[in-house]
Amino acid sequence: MITDLVQIKRLGEKAQPENERFGKHLRRQNFPELRFRRMAEEIEEQIDCRACANCCKVAETDITKRDIERLAKYLRITPKQVLEQYTTSSVFEKNETILRRRETGCIFLDGNDCTIYDARPDTCRDFPHLMRGAGSFESRMWQMPDRATYCPIVYNALEAFKKITTSFKTAVLK
Ligand code: SF4
Ligand code: SF4
Repeated sequence: MITDLVQIKRLGEKAQPENERFGKHLRRQNFPELRFRRMAEEIEEQIDCRACANCCKVAETDITKRDIERLAKYLRITPKQVLEQYTTSSVFEKNETILRRRETGCIFLDGNDCTIYDARPDTCRDFPHLMRGAGSFESRMWQMPDRATYCPIVYNALEAFKKITTSFKTAVLK
């Protein structure tokens, strides 16, 4: 299991084209989702997200109306104040509202700790969205090649998935 973030970045970037091909391959084939799920759960159990926190440092955090309401209650301020003080627009999608960021990552990150852990947005609860999240597993796969460059769970899971997907290995070796 690789957890070193420098290695994850290097290996994840190297594997990116292959991981993109793997995602497309899954959309065309029947794949062993239950086996994938078990493997991903085993990998998640072995990685300590609170020691890593890399997603909080490098990724944007989408925020919904429901998240804003929960956060307002937790911080004892109004939803309008949450919007004004803690959110901004995504650099990639101008219409998307995200949590504000500092140079070190999410505005609510303190070292490796989330200072609003009990009221964190749904996307943080479900991250890295490998086995949990909106839409089907296949529909979430398009985001995984990028996530494999910074998230140890995703990198290790994709490597494990590729190993057991015989049809992909056959297609790659052709
Ligand atoms: S809200 Fe908490 S869990 Fe979510 S990105 Fe920010 S620091 Fe991380
Ligand atoms: S989800 Fe991935 S990047 Fe985020 S803390 Fe856990 S292992 Fe690290």
